[in-house]
Amino acid sequence: LKKIGVLTSGGDAPGMNAAIRAVVRKAIYHNIEVYGIRYGYQGLMEGNIKKMDLGSVGDIIHRGGTILATARSQEFKTEEGQQRAIEQLNKWGIEGLVVIGGDGSFRGAQKLTSRGFPCIGVPGTIDNDIPGTDFTIGFDTSLNTVLEAIDKVRDTATSHERTYIIETMGRNAGDLALWAGLAGGAESIIIPEVDEEFSNIIHRLERSRERGKRHSIIVLAEGVGNAFEFSERIKKETGIETRVTVLGYIQRGGSPTAQDRVLASRLGARAVELLIENKSDRMVGIRNNEIVDNDIDDILSGKHHLNKGMYNLSKELSI
Ligand code: ADP
Repeated sequence: LKKIGVLTSGGDAPGMNAAIRAVVRKAIYHNIEVYGIRYGYQGLMEGNIKKMDLGSVGDIIHRGGTILATARSQEFKTEEGQQRAIEQLNKWGIEGLVVIGGDGSFRGAQKLTSRGFPCIGVPGTIDNDIPGTDFTIGFDTSLNTVLEAIDKVRDTATSHERTYIIETMGRNAGDLALWAGLAGGAESIIIPEVDEEFSNIIHRLERSRERGKRHSIIVLAEGVGNAFEFSERIKKETGIETRVTVLGYIQRGGSPTAQDRVLASRLGARAVELLIENKSDRMVGIRNNEIVDNDIDDILSGKHHLNKGMYNLSKELSI
């Protein structure tokens, strides 16, 4: 193996830079040339490629976002687009590709491997919604951002005796809301994986008011629905006024936490090892603090499971 490529695709996540750095440094350590592909698959088709050296990934380990930039590409979803990508890879003499991104990006990688081009996936998304890994790169940083927001909202919630609803990202996964809600001591955590009766949520709210609780925080995952509509519904059915904070894109930014940097370094390096071992169509991940790899086809047909025990615990602790 002489030349590999690396790209980031789909939504950005803090820690992607640490993963790029690990891929570049690990490859160079093994005397393999590394080519950075800008703007994900879009840049790949267009040949937006440049050789990376040790210095090109200097001073990025602590930075959010991705220095390679990312994009969503409709054209790459077509046969012609994928053919163009393969032509570019051949033209540059690249023999294997590390794809850092979420499940959509792995679908793209799957298309390249089905055309005989070796790809390894590295899970990078704040949503933590990928099977085959306990954590994705970016989740921990985002979680800490959400937690900081909950703590701040709690100060004003306590002062005004109000009920606040905080809407988190996470797409169809409730992990961000669950972890942040548990860490932040939320009264209610509402996530797409659990179909809780609305009356239960109201009952909990009223009960905590009765026992004189001065503040109430509800953490709602975006996958459940819109926090403003949820607030309206509470008002309509109980008369209780709630205030809504939609955290939005601040959850995607910021300097990655130590956890995310370490995870990204370990996963990025392992991806290069797999290419050296002639493996393809695998996604690296972490399970019980061991680095593992799984078939991308299995990852894409699998389902990420929320930790139900943690959800139940959050219920027990918020009575
Ligand atoms: P994420 O990787 O964060 O889930 P997306 O779902 O937007 O983000 O996917 C990123 C990119 O991967 C898409 O813009 C597209 O170029 C490529 N991609 C997604 N699904 C497919 C597919 N079925 N076939 C080929 N490429 C795909």
